[in-house]
Amino acid sequence: MDTEKAIDKAEHNCLEHGVKLTPKRKSVLEILLESKHPQSAYEIADLYQQKLAEKIPAMSVYRMLEFLIEQGLVHKLASTNKFLACSHITCTHSHKTPQFLICDNCQTVNEIGIDSSLIAALEQSISDNHFKLSSPQLELHGLCEACQTN
Ligand SMILES: [Zn+2]
Ligand SMILES: [Zn+2]
Ligand SMILES: [Zn+2]
Repeated sequence: MDTEKAIDKAEHNCLEHGVKLTPKRKSVLEILLESKHPQSAYEIADLYQQKLAEKIPAMSVYRMLEFLIEQGLVHKLASTNKFLACSHITCTHSHKTPQFLICDNCQTVNEIGIDSSLIAALEQSISDNHFKLSSPQLELHGLCEACQTN
């Protein structure tokens, strides 16, 4: 994804929602857009310092991430406690339940779109089991194509 294009779109989205993508929030989003892998808040704080030559406490990184997640620009992977930029920022379609294929070897994450009828069937069988889902996000672990052949 083109970082500049994504940032433009993110700024536009924030404006539409009446919130502001401050320079700091923008830098955090840029860092995630430029990262090949999901990053923890501490890793983001390090990358921020490298990029802007400015120290930032992990607590502030968490607050900025919270904002970016609320705006649908960033996702949190609960299974690894890391963050990544949404791969649909520049898309015009509505965002589905986030689904991720996480490679446990190279840490690459692919944000995928599972057919909505399949998700509906999954939610149905979950509620059939009298279970109330708090987070419908799917995180599937395994090996990516490149790592399977190595
Ligand atoms: Zn997304
Ligand atoms: Zn998309
Ligand atoms: Zn891999």
